[in-house]
Amino acid sequence: MSTFKDYKKEIMGAAHDDRLRLALSRAIKSFRNNINDALGKFPHTINMAEEVREIKEKTIGEMEKLARQACEAIEENKGKAYIAKTSDEALKIISDLVGDGKLIVKGKSMTGEEIGLREHLEEHGNEVYETDLGEFIIQQMGSRPMHILSPAIHVPREDVARLFSKVIGQELSLDSDIAKLVATAREFLRDKFFRADIGISGANVVAAETGTLFIIENEGNIRLATGAPPVHIALVGMEKLVPTISDAYKVSEVTWRYANYTVPSYVSLVSGPSKTGDIEKVTTYGAHGPKEFHVIFLDGGRTELAKHPILRQALYCLRCGGCLYECPVFAVTAGHFGDKYFAGIGAVWAAIISKDMEKATSIAYTCLTCGRCKQRCPMKIDVPEMIIELRKLIAESDGT
Ligand code: SF4
Repeated sequence: MSTFKDYKKEIMGAAHDDRLRLALSRAIKSFRNNINDALGKFPHTINMAEEVREIKEKTIGEMEKLARQACEAIEENKGKAYIAKTSDEALKIISDLVGDGKLIVKGKSMTGEEIGLREHLEEHGNEVYETDLGEFIIQQMGSRPMHILSPAIHVPREDVARLFSKVIGQELSLDSDIAKLVATAREFLRDKFFRADIGISGANVVAAETGTLFIIENEGNIRLATGAPPVHIALVGMEKLVPTISDAYKVSEVTWRYANYTVPSYVSLVSGPSKTGDIEKVTTYGAHGPKEFHVIFLDGGRTELAKHPILRQALYCLRCGGCLYECPVFAVTAGHFGDKYFAGIGAVWAAIISKDMEKATSIAYTCLTCGRCKQRCPMKIDVPEMIIELRKLIAESDGT
């Protein structure tokens, strides 16, 4: 079957799934209330978002320079840093670091999703656990994420209870309350965090001047995954780089606020392996946290995308997920409308980063170009403009 036929079947199936629509309508309602509260309490975020858009506009053409600067800073901090031109290069670097037979705990990472990192590590004989609760549910279901921040947005609690019963080999009641389900995952994963050989994460933004990764989260899984194992590996898309630590802070605040949080439970700043100078002021690496810290910056088509005057806007995306709650197509189909990234912006990603024109075409022609996403977007990314440009490129490449 062709990609288009598969896609049509998938998206039509989703559009007629009442349970999916119910789960999404609840999530959308609660997101809109939360974001209005968050922006109402901290209205300065709206001006800060404009500042962040200017930072992105200025620096997105300088990703390679910023990546080199960040690599130097990380090496000075006694970490190791790498620039991968392609997904294959990134996978090879990580495989060489990891080897086989390892226990790995992993935080949610869209870049990891983009290059199929978990599957790759599993194929090489490693035991990998997703530790973000939603991502853990998706992994155990053998499914794929349906939202960039809430990957299991489409799974109702009864299905989670059924799934967890299988995972722990013990029957959980289908009307288990959500707290009980969360506690079950906590107990199951806690042991993995402390036995793991390696923790893998992404990053929300990276300050090139100090090589500092900012990682925003609520669950505490990132703190454990990047703090407990002896080795921390981070995979970061190069578009996440900004020049200074103060720029990175602004990107972080705008990201969490537009992701509907007044403040997240945790923001981790990681610049190197753990160290201490407590005995005779001699700096010694490998204290309580990881002894090794590796960061891989992935290009994977981003520098090429940055050269396009219209489509480069896709690289300004903070992955706050706000646009998805405004999109009328996403409201009835969830992540079935998309590829690795969802909704209209996912079409640009599929075309330029994944180089899957058939998928990109399917998404580009599902998009209504209504522009509701642009209204919500802190970066004011003009998705309709990008979709029209992409359709033009598609038509030209077909010679029609
Ligand atoms: S396109 Fe805009 S609203 Fe959507 S995830 Fe990216 S930054 Fe957020």
